[in-house]
Amino acid sequence: MHKYLIDIAGTCNLKCPSCPVGNFSDSDFLSELKPKGFMDKILFSSIIKRIRDENPGERVLVNLFSWGEPLLHPDLPEFIDELNELGMACNLSSNLNITKNLDKVIKANPYKLRVSLSGFFQENYAISHTKGDVFLLKSNLYKIRYLLNKYKSNTQIEICYHLYSHNVDQDIFFMYQLSEELGFEFSPTWAYLMPVEKALRYYETKSADVFPEISNNMIISPDDAFNITNGIESSDCDLRSRMTQINYDGSVQLCCGTYDPHYVIAKNYLETSTEELRERKYSNPLCGTCMKHNLHKISMYHNAPKWDEVGNERLDEMQAPYKINMFSNPKVSNRQ
Ligand code: SF4
Ligand code: SF4
Repeated sequence: MHKYLIDIAGTCNLKCPSCPVGNFSDSDFLSELKPKGFMDKILFSSIIKRIRDENPGERVLVNLFSWGEPLLHPDLPEFIDELNELGMACNLSSNLNITKNLDKVIKANPYKLRVSLSGFFQENYAISHTKGDVFLLKSNLYKIRYLLNKYKSNTQIEICYHLYSHNVDQDIFFMYQLSEELGFEFSPTWAYLMPVEKALRYYETKSADVFPEISNNMIISPDDAFNITNGIESSDCDLRSRMTQINYDGSVQLCCGTYDPHYVIAKNYLETSTEELRERKYSNPLCGTCMKHNLHKISMYHNAPKWDEVGNERLDEMQAPYKINMFSNPKVSNRQ
């Protein structure tokens, strides 16, 4: 199944250091343009109509996010309604540091809402979710439980817990318990550095200065990630063969791993055929360099069991209290 990512809000209220919204400075951009803005309603309707028409009778997954915070978009509840009417599954991902929209969004009943976070206590959470307020986030988690019950919505809620060395002690235990209490799925996730163009700079220079605020907090280091995925057969990159990312202004990005508008492959999705998009993706020179450093495999967690094995070796070395699994159960268990 092909997946579509529509970045309806090309901006975010936080500045996380492992994400381009937080780690891209003006000097990092190759393009004069900046990927910032909100998608127009008519443009959105036209885009999803084309997607529906091109996938008749098929189940289609549409992520209404890529590098932006979708709950900032004032028309999000209507977008969810439109997707539901067309029989398309709507996925959202949010940092939940918001005070608006939540009631209408849950009432609209999207298929899935992933909540991305990285700690239970403010001092740790704010290291990797810079400018975030964990009290606002936690109050919204309770509110979501309340709203799901009130509207009888069956939206799946996933707590995506980004794993760093600063949040695998009591933070993960308490957040796991909160998630259990609320009846949400708990998904610990080994953090890696993004976007592709900046991670490549790390791999080509091996300098911690590329990601100065967060390099020392990685449990699985960029070198570990390269080694885990090295030698694993992969004839293509899923990000280009199975996914299409459309930016807030209707342009098409090479893939969801890139951020710089320099890697826009079509200015207007609506005016570019699927064949042309494919041809432009497959002739982009960035892909060769990216694949040389395994970034296409790292971003999809190829060799999944090995990520858990190496991650837990690192947790052992840190004498962390819990064993943590991303790809098997139990997700969090005592080490002894
Ligand atoms: S909340 Fe998400 S999109 Fe926003 S800066 Fe952090 S990682 Fe990036
Ligand atoms: S090979 Fe790399 S740059 Fe090319 S589409 Fe895949 S992830 Fe993006």
